[in-house]
Amino acid sequence: MNTSESPVVVMKFGGTSVGDISRIKRVADLVAAFRQSDPGVRIVVVLSAMAGETNRLVRLAKECVDRPQPREMDVLLATGEQVTIALLAMRLCEMGISAKSLLAPQVRISTDARHTNAQIESIDSRVIEDIVAAGAIPIVAGFQGISEEGDITTLGRGGSDITAVALAAALRARTCYIYTDVPGVFSTDPRLDPNARLLERVSHEEMLEMASLGAKVLHPRSVYFAMRYAVPLVVLSTFAGACSPGINGTWIVREEELMEKPLVTGVTHRFDEAQLTVEGMPDDIESMSKLFDALAERDVYIDMISQEGVGSHLVNVSVTVPDEQSGLALETIRGIVPTLKANGVTVERDIAKVSVVGVGMRYHTGVAARAFRCLAREGISVQMVNTSEIKMSVLVTRKYCEAAVRALHAEFIG
Ligand code: ADP
Ligand code: ASP
Ligand code: MG
Repeated sequence: MNTSESPVVVMKFGGTSVGDISRIKRVADLVAAFRQSDPGVRIVVVLSAMAGETNRLVRLAKECVDRPQPREMDVLLATGEQVTIALLAMRLCEMGISAKSLLAPQVRISTDARHTNAQIESIDSRVIEDIVAAGAIPIVAGFQGISEEGDITTLGRGGSDITAVALAAALRARTCYIYTDVPGVFSTDPRLDPNARLLERVSHEEMLEMASLGAKVLHPRSVYFAMRYAVPLVVLSTFAGACSPGINGTWIVREEELMEKPLVTGVTHRFDEAQLTVEGMPDDIESMSKLFDALAERDVYIDMISQEGVGSHLVNVSVTVPDEQSGLALETIRGIVPTLKANGVTVERDIAKVSVVGVGMRYHTGVAARAFRCLAREGISVQMVNTSEIKMSVLVTRKYCEAAVRALHAEFIG
């Protein structure tokens, strides 16, 4: 397809945007209006399942069995998107706009076989190119793929964003629009802090960190694809009433395109980590390496680490791991407590990780000092800290999460 003559845009609508029939009709109107406003453009649509549907399917599986097999889980989870794509396609057809719903195997969205968390390996763009060349709008199911073995896979929660950006990359789309239930990317979750500011532009690096650290408005891998394949990416609201996209919303851009580089661009939080503490372990490097070797052997992903002296030659060592791995981590450490000559191990799930992110941190010092002063003023104690070039994360008790987000936002952003 000659994209210079017929530019392609990808429009992705999230779960709330297709949450009921009236919203699906609204999305159809939006697609129609877009087409009318720019008749030369070829539109490709990607949809999520209706809001709440994927959660409902997860609950069904858990009611049915203790440990759903990942392969069957994917067959189940992929059904949510099949419903919305068919409904939107039939609505558009009734409006006189040619449209065709497509599942991942039809579009040949190939992934690896890591069920429930698969990664896209390739997309055969010809199927979609043929449909748009014939003047129809492909309506593609987000979140799903097909493995080499021919099995249905899913890309992890929130994965429709990945489908949209990966498709946009494969089609060399002019723009990928991520329509959602907020007007764009904010300086913090607008549902948590009314002082959150809508950001006009965010750099890829910042967005990648913000998404990984809890800003669920974009899936981190979709940001990675946008950065890797230079896909112009914008986040905007389905409900703002504007049918001329690109005017409002947040553009995800290269760092060089930022007008200014504020010290902190965003404050994020997440609850899905657990903290394990090995108590009374000998303070020597052999014990440390035994502990981390055992966790690495079981593929436990470790995020934060801290160590605290407790008496002579003894330490408490704490680590944070994804909550879903906390059972495995606990079992692993319990198994080596005698070898480590430690007193025991505890797990705490009542924690939250709050992070500040900004490319400006590259050029300034003193962020940590300001963050600690600010949290101390609020009486919030920090259990662990983790920093990188453009972010700083602190671990706090969950009940202080909201207060910590608001305080850090007020301190650095206003
Ligand atoms: P969709 O169903 O459209 O994919 P999501 O629920 O995945 O939408 O993401 C949108 C939600 O992300 C918003 O409703 C908002 O509460 C949340 N969110 C968290 N952090 C941010 C942020 N920094 N900016 C915007 N939204 C955010
Ligand atoms: N329906 C999937 C989910 O709820 C994918 C998505 O919405 O992006 O996680
Ligand atoms: Mg989402």
